Amino acid sequence: MVMKTMQMERTTVAQALEPANIGKKVRICGWVRTRRDSKAGFSFLELNDGSTIKNVQVLAENKLPNYDSEVLKLGIGSSVEVIGNIVESPAKGQATEVKSESLKVFGYADPATYPLQKKGTSMEFLRTIAHLRPRTNTFGAVARVRNEICRSIHNFFQSRGYIYVHTPIITASDCEGAGQMFRVTTLDLNNIPYQNGDSKAIDFEQDFFGKPTNLTVSGQLEAEIYALALSNVYTFGPTFRAENSNTSRHLAEFWMVEPEIAFCDLEGDMGVAEQFLKTIFNDVLTNCPTDMEFFNERIDNTVIETLKSIVNSDFARITYTEAVEILKSCGETFEFPVSWGCDLQSEHERYLTEKKFKKPVIVTDYPAGIKAFYMKLSDDETTVRAMDVLVPKVGEIIGGSQREDRLEVLEKRMIAQGLNPEEYWWYLDLRRFGSVPHAGFGLGLERTVQFVTGMTNIRDVIPFPRAPKTADF
Ligand code: ATP
Ligand code: MN
Repeated sequence: MVMKTMQMERTTVAQALEPANIGKKVRICGWVRTRRDSKAGFSFLELNDGSTIKNVQVLAENKLPNYDSEVLKLGIGSSVEVIGNIVESPAKGQATEVKSESLKVFGYADPATYPLQKKGTSMEFLRTIAHLRPRTNTFGAVARVRNEICRSIHNFFQSRGYIYVHTPIITASDCEGAGQMFRVTTLDLNNIPYQNGDSKAIDFEQDFFGKPTNLTVSGQLEAEIYALALSNVYTFGPTFRAENSNTSRHLAEFWMVEPEIAFCDLEGDMGVAEQFLKTIFNDVLTNCPTDMEFFNERIDNTVIETLKSIVNSDFARITYTEAVEILKSCGETFEFPVSWGCDLQSEHERYLTEKKFKKPVIVTDYPAGIKAFYMKLSDDETTVRAMDVLVPKVGEIIGGSQREDRLEVLEKRMIAQGLNPEEYWWYLDLRRFGSVPHAGFGLGLERTVQFVTGMTNIRDVIPFPRAPKTADF
Protein backbone atom coordinates (compact mmCIF):
# COMPACT_ATOMS: atom_id res chain seq x y z
CA MET A 1 0.00 0.00 0.00
CA VAL A 2 1.32 3.40 -0.94
CA MET A 3 1.25 5.88 1.92
CA LYS A 4 0.61 9.43 0.86
CA THR A 5 2.02 12.00 3.23
CA MET A 6 0.37 15.35 3.22
CA GLN A 7 2.55 18.27 2.20
CA MET A 8 3.09 20.74 5.02
CA GLU A 9 1.33 24.01 4.44
CA ARG A 10 3.75 26.67 3.22
CA THR A 11 4.62 29.44 5.63
CA THR A 12 5.39 32.75 3.94
CA VAL A 13 8.58 34.68 4.60
CA ALA A 14 6.43 37.46 6.06
CA GLN A 15 5.02 34.99 8.60
CA ALA A 16 8.45 33.51 9.32
CA LEU A 17 9.65 37.00 10.28
CA GLU A 18 7.01 37.40 12.99
CA PRO A 19 8.44 36.87 16.50
CA ALA A 20 5.11 35.33 17.53
CA ASN A 21 5.97 32.34 15.35
CA ILE A 22 9.21 31.51 17.13
CA GLY A 23 9.28 27.80 18.04
CA LYS A 24 7.11 26.69 15.11
CA LYS A 25 8.18 24.07 12.63
CA VAL A 26 7.59 25.41 9.14
CA ARG A 27 8.02 24.83 5.42
CA ILE A 28 9.21 27.96 3.62
CA CYS A 29 10.00 28.35 -0.05
CA GLY A 30 11.51 31.10 -2.13
CA TRP A 31 14.37 32.46 -4.16
CA VAL A 32 17.85 32.94 -2.78
CA ARG A 33 19.07 36.54 -2.66
CA THR A 34 22.51 35.81 -1.15
CA ARG A 35 24.53 33.00 0.39
CA ARG A 36 27.26 33.54 2.96
CA ASP A 37 29.45 30.66 4.13
CA SER A 38 31.14 30.43 7.47
CA LYS A 39 34.34 28.51 8.09
CA ALA A 40 32.64 27.12 11.17
CA GLY A 41 30.70 24.76 8.91
CA PHE A 42 27.44 26.41 8.02
CA SER A 43 25.92 28.86 5.56
CA PHE A 44 23.36 31.64 5.73
CA LEU A 45 20.84 32.01 2.92
CA GLU A 46 18.74 35.15 2.48
CA LEU A 47 15.41 33.95 1.13
CA ASN A 48 12.60 36.01 -0.43
CA ASP A 49 9.20 34.79 -1.62
CA GLY A 50 7.51 38.08 -2.51
CA SER A 51 5.24 38.11 0.54
CA THR A 52 7.27 41.03 1.92
CA ILE A 53 10.20 43.13 0.84
CA LYS A 54 12.24 41.60 3.66
CA ASN A 55 14.22 38.38 3.41
CA VAL A 56 14.34 35.68 6.02
CA GLN A 57 17.70 34.31 7.02
CA VAL A 58 18.03 30.55 6.75
CA LEU A 59 20.73 28.71 8.63
CA ALA A 60 22.00 25.66 6.73
CA GLU A 61 24.53 23.57 8.63
CA ASN A 62 27.06 21.19 7.08
CA LYS A 63 25.33 18.26 8.74
CA LEU A 64 22.61 18.54 6.08
CA PRO A 65 23.18 15.53 3.80
CA ASN A 66 23.23 17.74 0.69
CA TYR A 67 25.31 20.56 2.20
CA ASP A 68 28.41 20.06 0.02
CA SER A 69 26.63 18.73 -3.03
CA GLU A 70 23.83 21.30 -3.21
CA VAL A 71 23.74 24.06 -0.59
CA LEU A 72 27.20 25.28 -1.54
CA LYS A 73 26.06 25.63 -5.15
CA LEU A 74 23.18 27.97 -4.35
CA GLY A 75 23.48 31.51 -5.60
CA ILE A 76 21.25 34.49 -6.34
CA GLY A 77 18.09 33.43 -8.15
CA SER A 78 18.05 29.76 -7.14
CA SER A 79 14.81 28.39 -5.73
CA VAL A 80 14.55 26.22 -2.63
CA GLU A 81 12.29 24.65 -0.05
CA VAL A 82 13.35 24.64 3.56
CA ILE A 83 11.79 22.65 6.38
CA GLY A 84 12.95 23.78 9.76
CA ASN A 85 12.23 25.73 12.91
CA ILE A 86 11.71 29.42 13.43
CA VAL A 87 14.17 30.48 16.10
CA GLU A 88 15.16 33.74 17.70
CA SER A 89 17.94 35.31 15.66
CA PRO A 90 21.14 36.29 17.41
CA ALA A 91 21.88 38.69 14.54
CA LYS A 92 21.04 42.37 14.71
CA GLY A 93 18.15 43.81 12.73
CA GLN A 94 16.04 40.66 12.56
CA ALA A 95 13.94 39.00 15.23
CA THR A 96 13.83 35.53 13.73
CA GLU A 97 15.63 33.14 11.46
CA VAL A 98 14.92 29.64 10.19
CA LYS A 99 17.14 26.76 11.21
CA SER A 100 16.87 24.15 8.48
CA GLU A 101 16.34 20.45 9.07
CA SER A 102 16.20 19.75 5.38
CA LEU A 103 16.70 21.79 2.26
CA LYS A 104 15.49 20.91 -1.22
CA VAL A 105 16.63 22.68 -4.38
CA PHE A 106 13.91 23.29 -6.98
CA GLY A 107 16.06 25.05 -9.54
CA TYR A 108 19.55 26.49 -9.80
CA ALA A 109 20.37 29.82 -11.42
CA ASP A 110 23.78 30.29 -12.98
CA PRO A 111 25.24 33.35 -11.26
CA ALA A 112 27.36 34.11 -14.34
CA THR A 113 24.35 34.54 -16.62
CA TYR A 114 21.53 35.48 -14.22
CA PRO A 115 20.43 38.87 -15.59
CA LEU A 116 19.46 40.30 -12.21
CA GLN A 117 22.65 41.15 -10.44
CA LYS A 118 22.72 43.16 -7.24
CA LYS A 119 24.20 46.26 -8.82
CA GLY A 120 23.67 48.18 -12.02
CA THR A 121 19.98 47.61 -12.49
CA SER A 122 18.50 50.80 -13.91
CA MET A 123 14.74 51.06 -14.42
CA GLU A 124 15.36 51.15 -18.19
CA PHE A 125 17.37 47.94 -18.07
CA LEU A 126 14.79 46.24 -15.86
CA ARG A 127 12.10 47.01 -18.45
CA THR A 128 14.01 44.79 -20.88
CA ILE A 129 13.77 41.90 -18.41
CA ALA A 130 10.16 42.36 -17.31
CA HIS A 131 9.99 38.59 -16.73
CA LEU A 132 12.52 38.89 -13.87
CA ARG A 133 12.00 42.40 -12.53
CA PRO A 134 9.23 41.40 -10.06
CA ARG A 135 12.00 39.60 -8.16
CA THR A 136 13.60 42.94 -7.30
CA ASN A 137 12.75 44.85 -4.14
CA THR A 138 11.32 47.77 -6.11
CA PHE A 139 9.04 45.79 -8.41
CA GLY A 140 7.89 43.45 -5.67
CA ALA A 141 6.89 46.49 -3.64
CA VAL A 142 5.13 48.08 -6.62
CA ALA A 143 3.14 44.87 -7.18
CA ARG A 144 2.06 44.68 -3.54
CA VAL A 145 1.09 48.36 -3.36
CA ARG A 146 -0.79 48.12 -6.66
CA ASN A 147 -2.67 45.14 -5.24
CA GLU A 148 -3.51 47.07 -2.06
CA ILE A 149 -4.82 49.98 -4.13
CA CYS A 150 -7.09 47.62 -6.08
CA ARG A 151 -8.37 46.07 -2.88
CA SER A 152 -9.02 49.53 -1.48
CA ILE A 153 -10.88 50.59 -4.64
CA HIS A 154 -13.23 47.63 -4.45
CA ASN A 155 -13.70 48.05 -0.69
CA PHE A 156 -14.52 51.72 -1.06
CA PHE A 157 -17.33 51.11 -3.53
CA GLN A 158 -18.56 47.79 -2.19
CA SER A 159 -18.88 49.16 1.34
CA ARG A 160 -21.02 51.97 -0.06
CA GLY A 161 -23.35 49.73 -2.02
CA TYR A 162 -22.02 50.40 -5.52
CA ILE A 163 -22.56 47.59 -8.02
CA TYR A 164 -19.49 46.43 -9.96
CA VAL A 165 -20.45 46.37 -13.65
CA HIS A 166 -18.37 44.84 -16.43
CA THR A 167 -18.41 46.94 -19.56
CA PRO A 168 -17.26 45.65 -22.95
CA ILE A 169 -13.68 45.84 -24.11
CA ILE A 170 -14.61 45.71 -27.80
CA THR A 171 -16.92 48.52 -28.78
CA ALA A 172 -18.41 50.21 -31.81
CA SER A 173 -18.65 53.65 -30.19
CA ASP A 174 -15.96 56.19 -29.39
CA CYS A 175 -16.71 57.45 -25.90
CA GLU A 176 -14.31 60.36 -25.88
CA GLY A 177 -14.88 61.29 -29.50
CA ALA A 178 -11.15 61.77 -29.68
CA GLY A 179 -10.53 59.02 -32.20
CA GLN A 180 -7.37 57.65 -30.61
CA MET A 181 -8.50 54.06 -30.82
CA PHE A 182 -7.15 50.64 -31.66
CA ARG A 183 -9.10 49.02 -34.49
CA VAL A 184 -10.29 45.47 -33.91
CA THR A 185 -10.75 43.52 -37.11
CA THR A 186 -10.57 40.04 -38.60
CA LEU A 187 -10.37 41.38 -42.17
CA ASP A 188 -7.39 40.14 -44.15
CA LEU A 189 -5.11 43.16 -44.28
CA ASN A 190 -3.49 41.78 -47.41
CA ASN A 191 -6.80 41.52 -49.15
CA ILE A 192 -9.13 44.18 -47.83
CA PRO A 193 -12.68 44.03 -49.19
CA TYR A 194 -13.92 47.32 -50.62
CA GLN A 195 -17.48 48.47 -51.28
CA ASN A 196 -18.37 48.21 -55.01
CA GLY A 197 -14.72 48.09 -55.91
CA ASP A 198 -14.33 51.64 -54.61
CA SER A 199 -10.80 51.55 -53.27
CA LYS A 200 -11.50 54.14 -50.58
CA ALA A 201 -14.42 52.63 -48.69
CA ILE A 202 -13.70 49.43 -46.78
CA ASP A 203 -16.60 47.00 -46.68
CA PHE A 204 -16.96 46.50 -42.94
CA GLU A 205 -20.04 44.36 -43.47
CA GLN A 206 -17.57 41.59 -44.16
CA ASP A 207 -15.75 42.22 -40.89
CA PHE A 208 -16.38 40.08 -37.80
CA PHE A 209 -18.98 42.38 -36.23
CA GLY A 210 -20.35 43.70 -39.50
CA LYS A 211 -19.16 47.21 -38.65
CA PRO A 212 -15.99 48.97 -37.54
CA THR A 213 -15.03 48.17 -33.94
CA ASN A 214 -12.29 49.26 -31.58
CA LEU A 215 -10.86 48.59 -28.15
CA THR A 216 -12.65 50.72 -25.59
CA VAL A 217 -11.20 54.02 -24.37
CA SER A 218 -13.64 54.16 -21.45
CA GLY A 219 -16.53 52.19 -20.02
CA GLN A 220 -18.44 55.30 -19.08
CA LEU A 221 -21.29 55.29 -21.59
CA GLU A 222 -22.18 51.72 -20.72
CA ALA A 223 -21.74 52.43 -17.01
CA GLU A 224 -24.31 55.23 -17.37
CA ILE A 225 -26.83 52.65 -18.63
CA TYR A 226 -26.44 50.68 -15.43
CA ALA A 227 -26.39 53.77 -13.20
CA LEU A 228 -29.76 54.72 -14.63
CA ALA A 229 -31.13 51.44 -13.35
CA LEU A 230 -29.04 50.49 -10.32
CA SER A 231 -28.22 54.05 -9.14
CA ASN A 232 -24.60 53.65 -8.03
CA VAL A 233 -22.22 51.54 -10.11
CA TYR A 234 -18.55 51.32 -10.99
CA THR A 235 -16.42 49.72 -13.65
CA PHE A 236 -12.80 48.72 -13.22
CA GLY A 237 -10.94 47.35 -16.17
CA PRO A 238 -8.39 47.87 -18.91
CA THR A 239 -8.76 50.73 -21.38
CA PHE A 240 -6.83 51.43 -24.54
CA ARG A 241 -5.68 54.64 -26.16
CA ALA A 242 -3.62 54.82 -29.30
CA GLU A 243 -2.15 58.15 -28.31
CA ASN A 244 1.32 58.46 -29.67
CA SER A 245 2.56 60.24 -26.59
CA ASN A 246 5.82 58.98 -25.21
CA THR A 247 5.38 60.59 -21.81
CA SER A 248 6.09 59.23 -18.35
CA ARG A 249 2.34 59.43 -17.62
CA HIS A 250 0.73 57.77 -20.66
CA LEU A 251 0.29 54.12 -21.56
CA ALA A 252 -1.50 52.61 -24.54
CA GLU A 253 -3.14 50.08 -22.21
CA PHE A 254 -4.04 51.18 -18.71
CA TRP A 255 -6.57 50.39 -16.01
CA MET A 256 -9.34 52.77 -15.12
CA VAL A 257 -11.91 52.88 -12.33
CA GLU A 258 -15.11 54.62 -13.34
CA PRO A 259 -17.87 55.18 -10.79
CA GLU A 260 -21.16 56.45 -12.17
CA ILE A 261 -23.56 57.93 -9.65
CA ALA A 262 -27.24 58.60 -10.26
CA PHE A 263 -29.14 61.42 -8.54
CA CYS A 264 -25.86 63.27 -8.12
CA ASP A 265 -24.49 66.60 -9.32
CA LEU A 266 -20.92 67.86 -9.75
CA GLU A 267 -20.55 68.83 -6.08
CA GLY A 268 -21.56 65.32 -5.02
CA ASP A 269 -19.18 63.87 -7.58
CA MET A 270 -16.24 65.89 -6.26
CA GLY A 271 -17.06 64.82 -2.73
CA VAL A 272 -16.91 61.16 -3.71
CA ALA A 273 -13.65 61.67 -5.64
CA GLU A 274 -11.93 63.37 -2.70
CA GLN A 275 -13.12 60.78 -0.19
CA PHE A 276 -12.10 58.01 -2.58
CA LEU A 277 -8.51 59.21 -3.01
CA LYS A 278 -8.06 59.82 0.72
CA THR A 279 -9.33 56.32 1.48
CA ILE A 280 -6.91 54.74 -0.99
CA PHE A 281 -3.93 56.69 0.39
CA ASN A 282 -4.87 55.90 3.96
CA ASP A 283 -5.28 52.18 3.20
CA VAL A 284 -1.84 52.00 1.60
CA LEU A 285 -0.22 53.79 4.55
CA THR A 286 -1.97 51.46 6.98
CA ASN A 287 -1.56 48.16 5.15
CA CYS A 288 1.77 48.53 3.31
CA PRO A 289 4.02 50.23 5.88
CA THR A 290 7.17 48.29 4.98
CA ASP A 291 6.87 48.86 1.25
CA MET A 292 6.05 52.54 1.78
CA GLU A 293 9.15 52.95 3.95
CA PHE A 294 11.14 51.46 1.11
CA PHE A 295 9.71 53.90 -1.44
CA ASN A 296 10.29 56.78 0.93
CA GLU A 297 13.90 55.75 1.46
CA ARG A 298 14.87 54.69 -2.04
CA ILE A 299 12.57 56.34 -4.57
CA ASP A 300 11.16 59.62 -3.25
CA ASN A 301 11.72 60.83 0.30
CA THR A 302 8.49 62.86 0.34
CA VAL A 303 5.88 60.19 -0.41
CA ILE A 304 4.84 59.22 3.11
CA GLU A 305 4.64 62.79 4.34
CA THR A 306 2.71 63.85 1.25
CA LEU A 307 0.14 61.06 1.56
CA LYS A 308 -0.35 61.72 5.27
CA SER A 309 -0.92 65.41 4.77
CA ILE A 310 -3.39 64.78 1.93
CA VAL A 311 -5.42 62.39 4.06
CA ASN A 312 -5.71 65.08 6.73
CA SER A 313 -6.58 68.17 4.69
CA ASP A 314 -9.11 69.37 2.15
CA PHE A 315 -8.41 69.52 -1.57
CA ALA A 316 -8.32 73.00 -3.11
CA ARG A 317 -11.20 73.75 -5.49
CA ILE A 318 -11.05 76.37 -8.24
CA THR A 319 -12.79 76.98 -11.52
CA TYR A 320 -10.97 76.74 -14.82
CA THR A 321 -11.44 80.51 -15.24
CA GLU A 322 -9.75 81.13 -11.88
CA ALA A 323 -6.97 78.71 -12.83
CA VAL A 324 -6.31 80.63 -16.04
CA GLU A 325 -6.17 83.92 -14.12
CA ILE A 326 -3.68 82.44 -11.64
CA LEU A 327 -1.51 81.05 -14.42
CA LYS A 328 -1.55 84.27 -16.43
CA SER A 329 -0.50 86.43 -13.51
CA CYS A 330 1.91 84.12 -11.69
CA GLY A 331 5.02 85.37 -13.44
CA GLU A 332 6.08 81.89 -14.49
CA THR A 333 7.14 81.30 -18.11
CA PHE A 334 5.41 78.28 -19.58
CA GLU A 335 6.25 76.48 -22.79
CA PHE A 336 2.58 76.74 -23.75
CA PRO A 337 1.14 80.19 -23.00
CA VAL A 338 -2.21 80.24 -21.24
CA SER A 339 -5.39 81.87 -22.43
CA TRP A 340 -9.05 81.22 -21.70
CA GLY A 341 -10.22 78.39 -23.93
CA CYS A 342 -6.97 76.43 -24.15
CA ASP A 343 -6.55 73.04 -22.57
CA LEU A 344 -4.39 73.01 -19.45
CA GLN A 345 -1.05 71.37 -20.15
CA SER A 346 0.86 69.23 -17.73
CA GLU A 347 3.16 72.16 -16.83
CA HIS A 348 0.11 74.28 -15.88
CA GLU A 349 -1.47 71.51 -13.86
CA ARG A 350 1.78 70.95 -12.01
CA TYR A 351 2.23 74.64 -11.25
CA LEU A 352 -1.23 74.79 -9.70
CA THR A 353 -0.85 71.72 -7.52
CA GLU A 354 2.88 71.87 -6.71
CA LYS A 355 3.61 75.55 -6.40
CA LYS A 356 0.37 77.45 -5.92
CA PHE A 357 -1.65 75.20 -3.64
CA LYS A 358 0.89 72.52 -2.64
CA LYS A 359 -1.86 69.92 -2.41
CA PRO A 360 -4.45 68.24 -4.65
CA VAL A 361 -6.55 70.71 -6.63
CA ILE A 362 -9.92 70.13 -8.25
CA VAL A 363 -10.40 72.34 -11.31
CA THR A 364 -14.02 72.70 -12.43
CA ASP A 365 -16.11 74.27 -15.17
CA TYR A 366 -13.93 73.95 -18.26
CA PRO A 367 -14.77 75.56 -21.61
CA ALA A 368 -17.32 73.42 -23.43
CA GLY A 369 -15.17 73.38 -26.57
CA ILE A 370 -12.33 71.37 -25.04
CA LYS A 371 -14.39 68.75 -23.23
CA ALA A 372 -16.37 65.68 -24.29
CA PHE A 373 -19.93 65.89 -25.59
CA TYR A 374 -21.50 64.12 -22.61
CA MET A 375 -20.58 66.78 -20.02
CA LYS A 376 -23.42 68.93 -18.73
CA LEU A 377 -23.61 72.39 -20.25
CA SER A 378 -23.81 75.15 -17.62
CA ASP A 379 -26.38 77.92 -17.69
CA ASP A 380 -23.72 80.26 -19.12
CA GLU A 381 -23.61 77.90 -22.15
CA THR A 382 -19.85 78.37 -22.46
CA THR A 383 -18.58 76.00 -19.79
CA VAL A 384 -19.39 72.42 -18.82
CA ARG A 385 -19.70 70.90 -15.38
CA ALA A 386 -16.41 69.06 -15.61
CA MET A 387 -13.81 68.47 -12.93
CA ASP A 388 -10.21 67.27 -13.04
CA VAL A 389 -8.32 66.31 -9.90
CA LEU A 390 -4.66 67.32 -10.10
CA VAL A 391 -1.92 66.03 -7.81
CA PRO A 392 1.74 67.00 -7.45
CA LYS A 393 4.21 65.35 -9.86
CA VAL A 394 1.59 63.33 -11.73
CA GLY A 395 -0.80 66.12 -12.77
CA GLU A 396 -4.27 64.88 -13.75
CA ILE A 397 -5.19 61.75 -11.84
CA ILE A 398 -9.00 61.95 -12.17
CA GLY A 399 -11.20 63.33 -14.94
CA GLY A 400 -14.92 63.57 -14.33
CA SER A 401 -18.13 65.48 -14.86
CA GLN A 402 -21.82 65.79 -14.31
CA ARG A 403 -23.46 64.26 -17.38
CA GLU A 404 -25.76 66.10 -19.76
CA ASP A 405 -29.20 64.80 -18.86
CA ARG A 406 -31.27 66.96 -21.27
CA LEU A 407 -32.03 65.27 -24.58
CA GLU A 408 -32.02 68.33 -26.85
CA VAL A 409 -28.86 69.82 -25.38
CA LEU A 410 -27.06 66.50 -25.67
CA GLU A 411 -28.07 66.10 -29.32
CA LYS A 412 -26.82 69.60 -30.11
CA ARG A 413 -23.49 68.95 -28.38
CA MET A 414 -23.02 65.73 -30.34
CA ILE A 415 -23.63 67.44 -33.65
CA ALA A 416 -21.31 70.30 -32.66
CA GLN A 417 -18.55 67.75 -32.06
CA GLY A 418 -19.14 65.92 -35.33
CA LEU A 419 -20.85 62.85 -33.85
CA ASN A 420 -23.92 61.27 -35.35
CA PRO A 421 -26.75 61.17 -32.73
CA GLU A 422 -28.35 58.23 -34.56
CA GLU A 423 -25.37 56.05 -33.68
CA TYR A 424 -25.86 56.90 -30.01
CA TRP A 425 -29.62 56.22 -30.03
CA TRP A 426 -29.36 53.99 -26.96
CA TYR A 427 -27.41 56.64 -25.04
CA LEU A 428 -30.01 59.25 -25.98
CA ASP A 429 -32.81 56.88 -24.88
CA LEU A 430 -31.51 57.23 -21.32
CA ARG A 431 -32.48 60.92 -21.59
CA ARG A 432 -35.77 60.11 -23.28
CA PHE A 433 -37.03 57.72 -20.64
CA GLY A 434 -36.66 58.69 -17.00
CA SER A 435 -33.59 60.88 -17.28
CA VAL A 436 -31.96 61.83 -13.98
CA PRO A 437 -29.06 64.04 -12.96
CA HIS A 438 -25.97 61.86 -12.71
CA ALA A 439 -22.23 62.22 -12.56
CA GLY A 440 -19.05 60.18 -12.48
CA PHE A 441 -15.34 60.16 -13.02
CA GLY A 442 -12.41 58.07 -14.19
CA LEU A 443 -9.36 57.40 -12.04
CA GLY A 444 -6.26 56.11 -13.77
CA LEU A 445 -4.94 53.19 -11.71
CA GLU A 446 -1.34 53.54 -12.89
CA ARG A 447 -1.19 57.26 -12.16
CA THR A 448 -2.46 56.44 -8.68
CA VAL A 449 0.26 53.84 -8.18
CA GLN A 450 2.80 56.35 -9.50
CA PHE A 451 1.65 59.02 -7.10
CA VAL A 452 1.60 56.71 -4.10
CA THR A 453 5.01 55.12 -4.72
CA GLY A 454 6.87 58.09 -6.21
CA MET A 455 7.91 55.97 -9.21
CA THR A 456 8.70 58.44 -11.96
CA ASN A 457 7.79 56.44 -15.06
CA ILE A 458 4.33 54.97 -15.56
CA ARG A 459 5.92 52.00 -17.36
CA ASP A 460 7.31 50.85 -14.03
CA VAL A 461 4.00 50.61 -12.19
CA ILE A 462 2.25 48.15 -14.52
CA PRO A 463 3.65 44.62 -14.90
CA PHE A 464 3.84 44.63 -18.70
CA PRO A 465 3.66 48.14 -20.16
CA ARG A 466 2.12 48.79 -23.56
CA ALA A 467 3.34 51.97 -25.23
CA PRO A 468 4.38 53.07 -28.73
CA LYS A 469 6.76 50.40 -30.15
CA THR A 470 6.53 48.52 -26.85
CA ALA A 471 4.52 45.31 -26.53
CA ASP A 472 7.00 42.79 -25.17
CA PHE A 473 6.23 39.95 -22.81
P1 ATP B 1 -4.38 63.41 -20.05
O1 ATP B 1 -4.83 64.79 -20.36
O2 ATP B 1 -3.40 63.31 -18.94
O3 ATP B 1 -3.98 62.63 -21.27
P2 ATP B 1 -7.14 62.63 -20.22
O4 ATP B 1 -7.79 63.96 -20.10
O5 ATP B 1 -7.00 62.03 -21.55
O6 ATP B 1 -5.69 62.67 -19.48
P3 ATP B 1 -9.39 61.16 -19.16
O7 ATP B 1 -9.89 60.85 -20.52
O8 ATP B 1 -10.16 62.11 -18.34
O9 ATP B 1 -7.86 61.61 -19.22
O10 ATP B 1 -9.19 59.77 -18.39
C1 ATP B 1 -9.39 59.63 -16.97
C2 ATP B 1 -8.11 59.27 -16.26
O11 ATP B 1 -7.45 58.18 -16.88
C3 ATP B 1 -7.06 60.37 -16.26
O12 ATP B 1 -7.30 61.29 -15.25
C4 ATP B 1 -5.79 59.59 -16.02
O13 ATP B 1 -5.64 59.28 -14.63
C5 ATP B 1 -6.04 58.31 -16.75
N1 ATP B 1 -5.42 58.28 -18.09
C6 ATP B 1 -5.85 58.89 -19.22
N2 ATP B 1 -5.08 58.60 -20.27
C7 ATP B 1 -4.12 57.76 -19.80
C8 ATP B 1 -3.02 57.08 -20.42
N3 ATP B 1 -2.77 57.18 -21.73
N4 ATP B 1 -2.24 56.28 -19.63
C9 ATP B 1 -2.52 56.14 -18.32
N5 ATP B 1 -3.53 56.75 -17.68
C10 ATP B 1 -4.33 57.55 -18.41
MN1 MN C 1 -5.23 61.90 -22.75
